[in-house]
Amino acid sequence: MSEFFNPEMEALSRSEIEVLQLERLKKTVNHCQDSAFYKKRFESIGMKPSDIKCLDDLRKIPFTTKQDLRDTYPFGIASVPLKDCIRLHSSSGTTGNPTVILHTKQDIDQWANAVARCLWMVGCRPEDVFQNTSGYGMFTGGLGFQYGAEKLGMLTVPAAAGNTLRQLKFFTDFGTTVVHAIPSYAARIYEVMLEKGIDPRRDTKLRTLVIGAEPHSEDTRKRIEEMLGVKAYNSFGMSEMCGPGVAFECKEQNGLHIWEDYYIVEIVNPDTLEPVPDGEIGELVLTTLNREAMPLLRYRTRDLTRILPGSCPCGREHKRLDRMKGRSDDMIILKGVNIFPIQIEAILMQFQELASDYLITLETIDGNDDMLVEVEMSDIFIDDYSKLQRLEKEITRQLHDEILITPKVRLLPKGSIPKSEGKAVRVKDLRKQY
Ligand code: ADP
Ligand code: ZN
Repeated sequence: MSEFFNPEMEALSRSEIEVLQLERLKKTVNHCQDSAFYKKRFESIGMKPSDIKCLDDLRKIPFTTKQDLRDTYPFGIASVPLKDCIRLHSSSGTTGNPTVILHTKQDIDQWANAVARCLWMVGCRPEDVFQNTSGYGMFTGGLGFQYGAEKLGMLTVPAAAGNTLRQLKFFTDFGTTVVHAIPSYAARIYEVMLEKGIDPRRDTKLRTLVIGAEPHSEDTRKRIEEMLGVKAYNSFGMSEMCGPGVAFECKEQNGLHIWEDYYIVEIVNPDTLEPVPDGEIGELVLTTLNREAMPLLRYRTRDLTRILPGSCPCGREHKRLDRMKGRSDDMIILKGVNIFPIQIEAILMQFQELASDYLITLETIDGNDDMLVEVEMSDIFIDDYSKLQRLEKEITRQLHDEILITPKVRLLPKGSIPKSEGKAVRVKDLRKQY
């Protein structure tokens, strides 16, 4: 069997990718004339689809923002009549009002193909049993993975979110080999396994884990792999770009290949909106290349990442994104310093004494803004108070080296931090606004 799911697309060389992209970009811009939103936009800047003659001409097109999606809610950007659409999804609304994305039958099929391609890339085959612990419904991680896993031909278990005991029963009863879970839930699965005396290596056939939907550090991945005895692959997607299947790690686990027959990738400086060179962090901007219902041109994702320079030993020449640093709106500004929660997580996860759940609280005490980092302890039992104090001090020191401010660190017993149903909430901002 081929190592590629779509050899004709996955094995394209850089120059072939670019030829295909230009052809698809022209088609997409033409198709956008049928969108009331884009038609007006093109008119306002005097742009015609024939102005796109090379890939660099993409930069003549204005960015599309989340606000544009909200302003045209629910169907104002569509490029096809509603009667041609068969489904809509909406974002989970983590950062405000939800946005709606429409799909034609072909969009759904293309999306399933992208997800199948990703799963195949990490070694999933029709013999596998795939269990999806994502919420089904408007959240795209449910149906998105469902259709992709079916397209690949795996036996799928649409377990949906929550009810961890039932998830564990399915693992053992159905011989689940591949699981899709958000990283915070993967850690939860392991906790419940421990409570129930289940050894994932001995009692399950789990082999591959797909983790995504929320930022996580390399150490978090390593932890999850060790806990569950699996290989864990990073999966990136967002509702605006269909959902999962946008970019995915290959077996090298070094960057996420973004499918360039589906998307044109740009990384721009979020302030100047000018492109940054490969290797530099900026905001990810995506243009869809094969969408019917709702193509998006130069969509500002607000996710911060960089393109990894160099080629990947797996042979795919589709560009690789580094793991996400977070969204521009996740950035904490404290005492004038810019901090991403993931920087804090990366330090915490290096301590074996700590479990995976943590909460960053920003608060104003006596007129000063401060940060409190609460983190749950792992099962490594520390009976000596002075040892605990030393540990807290060491964590504080390492955090200070990373983020340049000194947070208060509080170690908590397991289970103290409230768990959320979907994506983990890592930051609480209780600062007084003056
Ligand atoms: P919402 O925007 O409401 O959270 P989505 O479900 O569309 O709704 O979430 C997409 C967002 O989730 C992405 O823009 C990104 O910020 C985050 N995300 C998705 N996958 C990953 C990943 N592998 N690593 C880090 N962040 C991710
Ligand atoms: Zn690769």
